[in-house]
Amino acid sequence: MISILARELQRRIAGQVRCFEPLSRHTTWRIGGPAELLILPQREEDILFCFEFAKRQGLPLHIMGNGSNLLVLDGGVKGMVLQTKSLQEVRVEGDCIWATSGAYLSHILKAALLNGLGGMEFFAGIPATLGGGLVMNAGTPQGTLGEVVKEVWFLGEDGRRLRLLKDELEFSYRRSSLKGKGVLLAASLQLYPQAPELTKEKARAVILKKKATQPLEWPNGGSVFKNPPGDYAGRLIEAVGAKGWREGGAQVSTKHGNFIVNLGGARARDVLILIDRVREAVFKTFGVALELEIEIWGEEVDAGGL
Ligand SMILES: Cc1cc2nc3c(=O)[nH]c(=O)nc-3n(C[C@H](O)[C@H](O)[C@H](O)COP(=O)(O)OP(=O)(O)OC[C@H]3O[C@@H](n4cnc5c(N)ncnc54)[C@H](O)[C@@H]3O)c2cc1C
Repeated sequence: MISILARELQRRIAGQVRCFEPLSRHTTWRIGGPAELLILPQREEDILFCFEFAKRQGLPLHIMGNGSNLLVLDGGVKGMVLQTKSLQEVRVEGDCIWATSGAYLSHILKAALLNGLGGMEFFAGIPATLGGGLVMNAGTPQGTLGEVVKEVWFLGEDGRRLRLLKDELEFSYRRSSLKGKGVLLAASLQLYPQAPELTKEKARAVILKKKATQPLEWPNGGSVFKNPPGDYAGRLIEAVGAKGWREGGAQVSTKHGNFIVNLGGARARDVLILIDRVREAVFKTFGVALELEIEIWGEEVDAGGL
């Protein structure tokens, strides 16, 4: 059945269609069971086609950027995963940059730098696509994507292609009104003139700080928990002595308590066990219920899996 659908899709779209593709190859954690169908569309019209196709066939549809905020469970993901990574167009238009959903923030930062534009340097080192970054309102305390966005082109749940201005969008801490409402196709960011040397210096400072404080030498999924109001998840996790806790191939980073790293062969189950242990310890000691920043996709193996 899945291979029949895959063949039909492959005939109709430009881009790869893969069956039972391990998502561990597509997440920064290097963890995750197979997707029944993984599709890497090359053109906007392919996204529109897949969207309609999934609806017609009653297939669940998941949109994936660079998989840098995802814990995919070991049993894999049913239905269709549409990964935007092959949509990599970036265009400088005056003080703005227009890019398609799969463009990496690092490529947009580079285009800004080469064209004497500033405003992207706070996103240095975030391994996100524009689509994933905007939907999650990625950023740092110095700035978020929701602050620099000018307008977006979006495919709504009803299949309509919308152009939305910044004022029509809502952004909050690691959330946007776009989340779960359809597919971000492209966006334009409002930047400002800035000397390339200054952009370079600011971006370098951001990256050096990340390298000093985050376990970038191991596959990971970024911050596991959101910071609770007025505090830091990493501080609470360190205070309960959880740094270094280990389960299978996963470990609460010894460098930053809010990161869980894959030391090799970690399974999603290992990460889930650590998440539960950390949450329980923080709640017992501080009465704080940590909320997940990462998103969990798919099925556990004992829930059927694929
Ligand atoms: C080493 C490391 C450092 C990080 N540092 C930061 C940081 O400093 N600040 C920060 O905010 N985050 C950080 N993150 C987390 C992560 O990069 C962000 O959450 C980012 O926004 C995820 O982007 P992505 O393209 O990987 O999206 P994915 O992880 O693939 O997807 C995330 C969500 O976005 C949705 N989505 C993706 N693309 C689209 C689209 N085109 N249309 C609609 N929905 C879409 C997905 O369905 C999912 O719900 C870090 C992660 C890592 C691994």
